[in-house]
Order: sequence, then structure tokens, then C-alpha cells
Amino acid sequence: MTRTVCRLLSLAVAVGLGAQLHAGLIGTDQERKIGRQVADELEKEYGLVNDGYMTNRVRTIGAKVAVFAQADRPKVEYQFSVLADPTINAVACPGGYMYAFRGLVKKMPEDEFLAAVLAHESAHVSERHGMQTLERTLGWSVLLGVLTGGGSDLGNAALGILMRGYSRDQEAEADRVGHVYLYQAGYDVGAMAGMLTRLSELTEDGGGVPNFLRSHPSDAARVGAAQKREAEILIDLGSQRPAPNPPRLGIVYQPTGDETDDVRQIGEQVATLLAQILQGSAQYRAEYAGARASREEDRVAALAQLAADQGLDGAVGLAFAEPPLQTAGSGRDAAVRIKLSVAMNVVAAGAAQPEVVFSYATKEEKRDADEQRRIEAALDSKVEETARALAVEVLRPTPVEAEER
Ligand SMILES: [Zn+2]
Repeated sequence: MTRTVCRLLSLAVAVGLGAQLHAGLIGTDQERKIGRQVADELEKEYGLVNDGYMTNRVRTIGAKVAVFAQADRPKVEYQFSVLADPTINAVACPGGYMYAFRGLVKKMPEDEFLAAVLAHESAHVSERHGMQTLERTLGWSVLLGVLTGGGSDLGNAALGILMRGYSRDQEAEADRVGHVYLYQAGYDVGAMAGMLTRLSELTEDGGGVPNFLRSHPSDAARVGAAQKREAEILIDLGSQRPAPNPPRLGIVYQPTGDETDDVRQIGEQVATLLAQILQGSAQYRAEYAGARASREEDRVAALAQLAADQGLDGAVGLAFAEPPLQTAGSGRDAAVRIKLSVAMNVVAAGAAQPEVVFSYATKEEKRDADEQRRIEAALDSKVEETARALAVEVLRPTPVEAEER
């Protein structure tokens, strides 16, 4: 039974994606006909759930993410249904007939996790992964011959191939593209990693091996990749999900007075870059508000005062949390570890004080020009890395999400 399930699912995905890759030869209409055949088979095999609430939930969430998949591939209409089967799985048929299995839906009570699954599946369709696999293995002539001969026989030829599942690269791509849809649809950017973690746990529990994970030797690597991607999405794609009325935010460097000139300069650079990154994300109208000395105990109060004075909606203050220039190592390997702390007085996001450890290589004695350049380049990239890390702290959750919850 389980084996039959897998075969059917593989076929369903493969046929649908294949047709789209060759849109010039195999039109969307034909794809939808094939898709409907596969969908009918699936529905005949499992039946649809008789549960209006569950169906409505999947349709509502599916529609939210599929809007963005459709933007990538406008001729496909995505329709979501729930199959009456306890398997933990989901499938995308040709022509956009999408199915979640009841078992999967029940294991994803959080809307954002369910959205992550549906976004991943939608990405397999918009990226045409099934067709890539079939074309590579069967070749053009077989594919076209089978399709013009009726289409339903394609399954037999494709079955064995697709039983092997998607390649690791294709799964990674579906995670990546689906992650973007998920974010664009307004869900928490952390939901993709959360969903993958949930699937991984379900696998360990013996609750059935989800299709998503079969071709992946390492669940942890996949979760890690999703977590790493969160920063990219929040920073680089923020403008695709603009806040309707972005709050004005001042970014301040708050020196304590103990810093050397070098360190002070680093603080100002990080703050300036942070303002630029936030500006680009479109979640805030951020501006660098300069360096303002402040004692540790009144940092947050100083930010509130700054915001009030300048009519800002909030402020983010950067300061070095510990007396800087505690040098570790010596000579060429000498390094300074500086702990940078951030005080936030962002109206919607509330106050938070994440800490970022900032370190860079330094040397007391004279350096030659090459070494100087190398150290400066390393410092620049560290400044950028730090500013991006801070931007993620500020951007998550966005004010819009905070207000909704
Ligand atoms: Zn997948």
C-alpha cells in the first residue's frame, strides 16, 4: 500500500512538471488534462476528506503561498485539496492540482508550518523539477511520443525513474524557492526550518518517512540551510514585502568613552551600514542618527529620548558591551574580541538586547602594506557581517507581524 502511494505521487509530480518545461510543445491545456487524470487517480485511490474545516484551512493557506508561485508561472492555477489518508505527504500534480494528505495536515497544526510545506511543493511545480528528471532519463522522443499518444502511459515509463525521488539539488531548490514564497505570503521566515525540523522529528518517531526527506542524507543540514537563508530573505527580500507604513527608526552608536579611535570607528561603521541595510529592506525608514555618548545604565532611556526628540517611532543603539581591546594571542595572531550589544527601543517590536561578538585581527607593531590591506579587508567584511546579523535581529519579527499577533 505504502509502495503504491509513493509510486503514484512520484508520477503525479513528474508528469505535471514535465509538461510545463516544454510549454512551446506541450501546452498548458494539455498539461491540465494530464494533471486532471492523475488527480482523478489520486482521488479515486484515497478519496477526499469529508472535513470542511481541514479542507478550507489547506485551501486558504495554499492560496496565500501559491499566489507567488503563480507569479513565477502565470498559466498554472493552483488548487488545493486534502486526501483522506494518514500518510505524511503532499503532492503537486500537473496543471496545479495540489494535494495534502490528511496525515500531514494533522501533524502541522501551525498554519505557518503547513504553509511551508505547501510553498515547498509549489516550488517543485514552478521550478519544473519532475520534467527535468524525466527528460534527462527518458529523452525527448519518448516523452513526446507518449504524450501525443494519450499521456496516461507516461506513468509506467516514468515510474521507476521517479521512484528514486528528486535529486538533492532539486529538494534544496524547492526549499529555497518555497522559502521565498512563504516569506512573501507573510508567514514567519523561521517557519521553513521549523517545518523541516518537525518532519525530521516525525521520521524519528516512526510516523512514516515523508517524501520531502527521502533524498536527503542529512536532515540537519537542510534545517541549517533554511536557518542560514533566513537572514538573506529578511534583508534582501524585505522590499518585496514592504510594510504599508514603515516606522521611522534612528540607528545610533552609543560610545561609553573607553573606546580607542579604531573601535569607535568600527562602531560608527556598523551603525551606518545597519541603517542602510534596514532602509533597503523596506520594513523601516531607517537613518543613521550619529554617535551619542551614553552610560550603560541609561542607554535604552537615551534611545527613547532620541526617538521623542526627533519624532521617530523607535531607535536602535549599538554599544560595545565590555571594555574593548582585550587582546588575545600575540604578534601576528593577536586578535581583539569586542562584544557589541544592541539596545532596541522599537515601538512595535519591543525592547530586546541581543549580543553580537565582534572580533577582528589587530597588531600593535608596524605592518607592511600588503598585510595592512589584508587586515582592512577582513575588517570590512566583519563589519558587514555584523551589520547584517544585527539587521536580522531588528527585522525579526517585523512590526507588521508583531501588530497582527
Ligand atoms: Zn520536495
